[in-house]
Amino acid sequence: MQARPAPYLDELNPAQREAVETLDGPVLMLAGAGTGKTKALTARIVHLLNQGKARPNEILSVTFTNKAAREMKTRVGQMLGQTVEGMPWLGTFHAICVKLLRRHAELVGLKSNFTILDRDDQIRLMKQLISASNIDEKRWPARQLAGIIDDWKNRAITPDRVPAADAGAYNHEGPRLYAEYQARLKELNAADFGDLLLHCVTIFQKHDDVLTQYQRWFRYILVDEYQDTNVAQYMWLRLLAAGHRNICCVGDDDQSIYGWRGAEVGNILRFEKDFPGAHVVRLEQNYRSTPHILAAAHSVISGNEGRLGKKLWTEVDEGEKVRLIGHWDGDEEARWVGEELESMQQGTRGMRPFSLDDCAILVRASHQMRAFEDRFLTIGLPYRVIGGPRFYERMEIRDAMAYFRLVVSPEDDLAFERIVNTPKRGLGDKAQQVIQRTARERGVSLVEGARIAVAEEAIKGKGGAALRVLVDDLDRWGRLAGSDDLTHMELAETVLDESGYTAMWQNDKTPEAPGRLENLKELVKALEGFENLSGFLEHVALVMDNETDEGGAKVSVMTLHAAKGLEFPAVFLPGWEDGLFPSQRSMDEQGLKGLEEERRLAYVGITRAEEVCTISFAGNRRVFGQWQSQLPSRFIDELDEAHVEVLTPPGLYGGGYGAAGMAASASPEIMTRNQSGIDERVHRADVYNSPGWKRLQARSGERPVSQPREERNQVIDMTAVAAYGIGERVFHQKFGYGAVIGVEGDKVEVAFEKAGTKKVVSRFICAADD
Ligand code: ATP
Ligand code: MG
Repeated sequence: MQARPAPYLDELNPAQREAVETLDGPVLMLAGAGTGKTKALTARIVHLLNQGKARPNEILSVTFTNKAAREMKTRVGQMLGQTVEGMPWLGTFHAICVKLLRRHAELVGLKSNFTILDRDDQIRLMKQLISASNIDEKRWPARQLAGIIDDWKNRAITPDRVPAADAGAYNHEGPRLYAEYQARLKELNAADFGDLLLHCVTIFQKHDDVLTQYQRWFRYILVDEYQDTNVAQYMWLRLLAAGHRNICCVGDDDQSIYGWRGAEVGNILRFEKDFPGAHVVRLEQNYRSTPHILAAAHSVISGNEGRLGKKLWTEVDEGEKVRLIGHWDGDEEARWVGEELESMQQGTRGMRPFSLDDCAILVRASHQMRAFEDRFLTIGLPYRVIGGPRFYERMEIRDAMAYFRLVVSPEDDLAFERIVNTPKRGLGDKAQQVIQRTARERGVSLVEGARIAVAEEAIKGKGGAALRVLVDDLDRWGRLAGSDDLTHMELAETVLDESGYTAMWQNDKTPEAPGRLENLKELVKALEGFENLSGFLEHVALVMDNETDEGGAKVSVMTLHAAKGLEFPAVFLPGWEDGLFPSQRSMDEQGLKGLEEERRLAYVGITRAEEVCTISFAGNRRVFGQWQSQLPSRFIDELDEAHVEVLTPPGLYGGGYGAAGMAASASPEIMTRNQSGIDERVHRADVYNSPGWKRLQARSGERPVSQPREERNQVIDMTAVAAYGIGERVFHQKFGYGAVIGVEGDKVEVAFEKAGTKKVVSRFICAADD
């Protein structure tokens, strides 16, 4: 077949061309961010087609996200100059495996119409098995088991092959329950996410004829983001490539950020061993970012040990330095980003104008999004959240809101349905039908229906008892909402605690659980801006109503993890504070593994930016109504100063660097922007006299930004429950100053100067040491 002309090759540099034109045999493209790995991989598909080496459906091409797959398809079409019909095997591991598994389901005891279980179904099933085994689920939460089984599946371990080292997992019951769980899935004709890959691997291992069929069919294999493959994915690839060895993997060890989900960066290093004679191509020219951005990213990632080490260069002009800005608190940070985005559309600080489509905000933790989303909604700045639901659409937020809605309005049947068995109260479908029926027959709300059903003993046993507790709790919370005893933040907290909802996630050992708990904290924090629960619920209802998706430019908001492989002219990286980024977990962990993964995440973040990269941090974040002092991230220290420009936040004319800058600046007055966006002049002394600030100073002393590491990493826990003595002067966010007159468990009775005597949860007060 006569090859057609190949204009797409002219767009590549010699190293990329080499990777594209070496069509046969194993190829590893190992290169840093923005060097055109994905571009070369795409060109390789085009070249394969153009050279008549394979038909579109004979190319197996693995991307990390569905979005990346779609983009790759479009680009192939553009490069080829015609639309490509049918590239069924271009997609994520999971998408491709589902297709394979449907064809061969019977080989692993499933029917081709098997269902794919989501997390909730998975947990429900495990709970059944756990309780059938008489294991105390309180001590051994189902979610812990789910995490362990996921991990085995990521490592391609089937129940009969659990290694001896893991025999003790889940109180020594893990391996047995794993086998039972798999058997049960089969009975249900179902597979969970991990099974999709694992079953394929099993089929390939046990059925030579099937494997050979696909080895022949997939004439060429291509893999993007190879550094983030786990063992099961790796085995799957190796099996498929074993015959012709036409496999091309591209990756960057510095961007391996899924270790927590079982990815093994070692797969890259093993490639040459597993595929002897592999052609290794290194790319060094970066086409994405300005030199300042590249150098700053490089200075951070150099802190990691055991890197393969790559130095990138670019022909692009110097451009802007990486911009660094400190803010007084998280809200101020969100406010500033909103304003900056508005002015950037016109062109500001000597920069060209940017469309909102050019801009992205990349956060470390999804709970950070809330402040930005709220701010953008307030000022009407269009935005989209990529790779996940918006904050108020998250499962845990919806659950929590359902509780709040019931507290405010017990007639809210939808809310009741949502939470009646969340956390699990032993109220299965049958019990819920009884409630529904009772309510219908009597013409009352579900809560009332439940009350009647319990009273009439229509629902008995454990479930009945739990339902009685729930109904009584809802009554009590409702009364609390109407009283003055608790602030609405305290009430929200109380509801989440007493309902067992917080505990449900605390007991959850899956990687997502800490994030969900953070989101719940963030939700309580969001309440602060409102008079009461109803006001807040109204706000959210309006926010949710606002989300109709009109066209037009929008700023993208996503986590750093979701930003992998993407690029934007202007990138904002907020929340660079120790404990947030790097995460507290990675800092607490023994050894450097977690911290190094965080550092790679920082590298991924900075290298998403083409022209402007803005890193920010806040000196304070509010947690449960209390100031918590934040220290700038250690990664900020690691940025090479030569490539950084420090901006002065407009809200703090007197100071430079957030909390630390406040302390360092000499001016007696500080301009600060209040909640309503109005500038006000605050006397420094007023800030320093606030109890939170005093406690902060007492514990840590004043710390300039450049303070030595050991001191900077002190964790100042402003929320810790202090033991209060009778007569002690305390401060409460809502009620102000007062004196302790009694202590009762975790509640403290305080005679407030203005608000009178109240019982408050001790977590919500702090010592006023003036
Ligand atoms: P990451 O590691 O972040 O996934 P990558 O190595 O996959 O990055 P690409 O996304 O393929 O990099 O390319 C980065 C940018 O550089 C893209 O905008 C791409 O179009 C451009 N680019 C890549 N190669 C070239 C080239 N030879 N000439 C001009 N532009 C290029
Ligand atoms: Mg890429």
